[in-house]
Amino acid sequence: MDKRDYYEVLGVEKTADAKVLKKAFRKLALEFHPDRNPDNPEAEDKFKEASEAYEVLSDPQKRQTYDQFGHAGLSGAGYQPGFQDMGDIFSHFGDIFGDLFGGRRGGQRGPRRGADLELRLPLDFMEAVHGCQKEIEVPTHVGCDTCDATGAKPGTAKKPCATCGGRGEVTQQQMFLRIRTTCPDCRGSGAMIETPCEDCHGHGKTRQVNKWTVSIPAGVDSGMQIRDRGKGETGDPGAPPGDLYVTIQVRPHDFFKRDGHDVYCQVPISYPQACLGAEVSVPTVDGEATVKIPRGTPSGKVFPLVGQGITAINKRSRGDQHVQVVVGVPTSLSSEEEDLIRKLAELQDGNVGEKGFFRDFLDRLNI
Ligand SMILES: [Zn+2]
Ligand SMILES: [Zn+2]
Repeated sequence: MDKRDYYEVLGVEKTADAKVLKKAFRKLALEFHPDRNPDNPEAEDKFKEASEAYEVLSDPQKRQTYDQFGHAGLSGAGYQPGFQDMGDIFSHFGDIFGDLFGGRRGGQRGPRRGADLELRLPLDFMEAVHGCQKEIEVPTHVGCDTCDATGAKPGTAKKPCATCGGRGEVTQQQMFLRIRTTCPDCRGSGAMIETPCEDCHGHGKTRQVNKWTVSIPAGVDSGMQIRDRGKGETGDPGAPPGDLYVTIQVRPHDFFKRDGHDVYCQVPISYPQACLGAEVSVPTVDGEATVKIPRGTPSGKVFPLVGQGITAINKRSRGDQHVQVVVGVPTSLSSEEEDLIRKLAELQDGNVGEKGFFRDFLDRLNI
């Protein structure tokens, strides 16, 4: 089935601002909320569809991508709009549902999805250019083995939750609506822990360091983020885990500088090479290239190596390398070299230092 247009789903104009979007979404969420439509898969689908549309349109960056390129553009940019289940939706829009249904803020309803984790990943310049596989260690929390993630000391009993009387649900009356929600105190389990597990202190979770391998695509740059679904914190039982966001940080390179997909470098040439022309060998991100320096090349001139820059992540384009030649001045001379340079200076008009090249330059400027 083709996806419906997000604006059509929410029933708003393409120019709708954040306030109008939120209002439209709240109206639909109230209409199709599962509490008001028990065992109605059609309402659930509409609820999910509206949540997805709102997720995209309420995010300025995603909205811009969608406006320009539609659904295909979002997946092309690495977004995967939509939610795995209701718990995912509630944890995402907790604050909106919070004031819709008068409960506690922050998605306390139902089993909670695991938290997202963010990690900075430093890369060498060439690792970013060519892509790589990186082993990373992510500190996280997992279900406690000792108590089977229940939080209760093994062998001890739990007592019924006082808030909900062990039902795991509480009913709230709001206007003409009666809304059943998961009990905020026992989170739906209906039970309270009397003697906490000693290993996890009743939380049911312990710390663990997860080791993952992250595939870094060629062409990434500092600040880019890679999202690994389901590799964040473990969720409550029955709820999905969070996502892992890896933020790339590229270390500077001694020779190459980067701007987008273009690479910049400086290469020293000698005065005779600048005067007479030469072929010089220049490092590139792929190895080496030859740059032809024509006769009479001034210091600072830039030679482009077209298509020898960095490959874009989508592999559709490649940048250039810009080679700037700089005429080097030797700091020490052999006596033979010095003799020759003095001879050259005399040929070019007399005294070294006072008149000559510079005087000639000023004369031409008429100063
Ligand atoms: Zn435990
Ligand atoms: Zn309870």
